[in-house]
Amino acid sequence: MAIDLSYAPGVTALVEKTEAFIREVVLPIEDEHGGDITAAGGDTLRVELQKAAKDAGVFAPHAPVEYGGHGLNMTDRAPVFEAAGYSLFGPTALNIGAPDEGNVHMLAHIAGPEQKERFLAPLAHGDMRSAFAMTEPSPGAGSDPSALTTRAEKVPGGWKINGHKYFITGADGAGFFIIFARTSGVPGDRGGATMFLTPADAEGLRVGRHIDTLDRAMIGGHCEVFFEDLFVPDG
Ligand SMILES: Cc1cc2nc3c(=O)[nH]c(=O)nc-3n(C[C@H](O)[C@H](O)[C@H](O)COP(=O)(O)OP(=O)(O)OC[C@H]3O[C@@H](n4cnc5c(N)ncnc54)[C@H](O)[C@@H]3O)c2cc1C
Repeated sequence: MAIDLSYAPGVTALVEKTEAFIREVVLPIEDEHGGDITAAGGDTLRVELQKAAKDAGVFAPHAPVEYGGHGLNMTDRAPVFEAAGYSLFGPTALNIGAPDEGNVHMLAHIAGPEQKERFLAPLAHGDMRSAFAMTEPSPGAGSDPSALTTRAEKVPGGWKINGHKYFITGADGAGFFIIFARTSGVPGDRGGATMFLTPADAEGLRVGRHIDTLDRAMIGGHCEVFFEDLFVPDG
């Protein structure tokens, strides 16, 4: 059976609006600051650009409609994301930069009602940023997640997490983290990986240095992150 890759009604118009928004509003700011989003204002700029994207009707193409987005499916997202990506600052303006885009997608599918209210709603609306913590310094998880060394141990009422991550995009200033940790087995074993959701201000979560990379277009750095007896409640 042939796969239908045609777009839903309205997607072509949204792509055109996104192209115009990126060209007229976002790209001039990127150019003025040589692609350095921190120099351009960091989170202050993000809030301004996202307001402009809302006003232009191009904000959050991926987020569910009930959370202020366009609710596009994967096929329909692709050309909009492509249009946003014409500027390095474009994904931030539309709230589809890493890791927030993936975290919105995941929470929309698997979060419970309270988690949606507390984490998905502010993330989808651009009121909060997030982080996704999988990669670890060698010999830990990277391209091969089975090398996962960060451990989550069951304790009364929740889990205690210990480990060390790095290259965690947006960690500095994130409102919450999704953490990959091992609940069974040893590094090298398949299985045992679980994702934990925690507010960033939880005791035992520490954001370290910003690792220097070629990237200057993402807010909150690509950071080292430490979990030192971080408690994540069962809920
Ligand atoms: C700018 C930037 C932002 C990032 N943001 C995040 C983030 O937000 N969250 C996060 O969790 N991570 C993040 N990362 C990390 C990124 O996901 C990892 O760099 C990537 O998964 C590769 O892992 P690694 O760097 O440990 O390389 P390695 O896993 O050490 O890989 C090095 C090389 O060895 C090969 N290799 C590794 N294992 C195997 C195997 N079992 N078999 C065959 N070949 C293998 C790889 O293909 C590669 O060529 C970011 C990285 C960068 C550079």
